[in-house]
Amino acid sequence: MNKMNSENFLNLLNNDSSELVRKAKIKRKRIHGKQITFSRNIFVPVTHQCRNRCGYCSFVSDDPNTWVFPNKFGDLLLLAKNNNCKEVLLTLGEKPEEKYQTAKDILRKIGFNTTVEYINYLCEITLGHHLLPHSNLGVVSHTELQMLKQTNASLGLMLETNSTRLMNEGEAHYYSPGKDPCLRIETIENAGKLKIPFTTGILIGIGETWMERIESLQVIAELSKKYNHIQEVIIQNFNPQEKTPMSKYPPPTEENILFSIALARLILPEEVSIQIPPNLNKDRIITAINHGANDLGGISPITIDFINPNLIWQEELDLSKELHQSSFSLIERLPVYPQYEKYLNIRMRGIVEEFKDNEKISTSKD
Ligand code: SF4
Repeated sequence: MNKMNSENFLNLLNNDSSELVRKAKIKRKRIHGKQITFSRNIFVPVTHQCRNRCGYCSFVSDDPNTWVFPNKFGDLLLLAKNNNCKEVLLTLGEKPEEKYQTAKDILRKIGFNTTVEYINYLCEITLGHHLLPHSNLGVVSHTELQMLKQTNASLGLMLETNSTRLMNEGEAHYYSPGKDPCLRIETIENAGKLKIPFTTGILIGIGETWMERIESLQVIAELSKKYNHIQEVIIQNFNPQEKTPMSKYPPPTEENILFSIALARLILPEEVSIQIPPNLNKDRIITAINHGANDLGGISPITIDFINPNLIWQEELDLSKELHQSSFSLIERLPVYPQYEKYLNIRMRGIVEEFKDNEKISTSKD
């Protein structure tokens, strides 16, 4: 199956989709069995300012008052501790200081030149609270990655798509220089060279073709095989948001979502987790699992999904019951998967061990 090229996958999809789904289900079951994982986290949007303007984004804002400062951040960490979260998910717009003088001024005032430096500082504070940071900063340089490796249990950057066509006028990424696939692949590749546990994914339904979707997954698969650092791949479905240029754009169909999950399972190496955000898949979680998914990503007991604020996360207990009814178990994992703990420095490995000593966390090495 791994030897198949993009045409073969497209033919399988078009001519024998039931075989595609059958193979994906078997592959998931062989590697991940009945365990469906998630990470209990707190979601901290550090700033909504961003140099890009993606057509579907409701997260982005010009407002400089959206910055989270260290005092407030410290309060959020205490809240996370009190709610038994292990992961602190730091999400923000990409390089806002390149676009906004206000962002530059804010950073200078608190003693930093770049947003990445500031995030690194917040990650230091997070580790000081014995919690594990996972940051999504957009495109970052090799030097910045070297710094972030010391303070992050894992990093995330969605490839979203390998299609440069979506940067053309009228397409989703026309106003987003940071969504150039070459830049994103470079960041993911540099993270691989530096052995940083990594999360990436594709965004489906933003105007890409099936062939572009397949090729995006193949690019991720190649990076994963070359560097062995991609621990999970998110299949994220576009969710139209009010007051965005794509608010009237149709969301992807059920078939589009489920077949993308199945293709991801077949194209990616078997140890890579296929993640689906449960709030974006409320009525099809079991079906998505039966198409190849095995992970539900970060679920927060205290904060909302700031990327899709109209879709509330389900309660852990409800998800657990739903899975149990179909003979699956919901198992907590950390933002670093067990097989990548060896990439972490001693300090972070110590925190991982503390969590494992204290309670049941997924420790499967498979
Ligand atoms: S999706 Fe991300 S990169 Fe695009 S505008 Fe929103 S915050 Fe910026």
